[in-house]
Amino acid sequence: MTTSTQHYAYVGISPCGCIQSAVVDIAEHAKDVRRAVAEFMRNGEIIERKTVEEVRKQFCVTIHREGVCPHRGDCPFRKAKP
Ligand SMILES: [Zn+2]
Ligand SMILES: [Zn+2]
Repeated sequence: MTTSTQHYAYVGISPCGCIQSAVVDIAEHAKDVRRAVAEFMRNGEIIERKTVEEVRKQFCVTIHREGVCPHRGDCPFRKAKP
């Protein structure tokens, strides 16, 4: 099994700075990927392209109850070293 292939994903960064949306960039599913990215943007998120590995580390799994950010622009997950 080879691990040399680098996979990328698009993430949606919430206004609070947390990554709460992500979609793996798969060429065969380009249409679905574009649709997901468009939805992230509609939600006011900033789109960034990262490796799947980075996303796995930086994705914020903390629930934002009633839209309140428990990290207040200082998401601990974002600090993960690449
Ligand atoms: Zn947040
Ligand atoms: Zn967070």
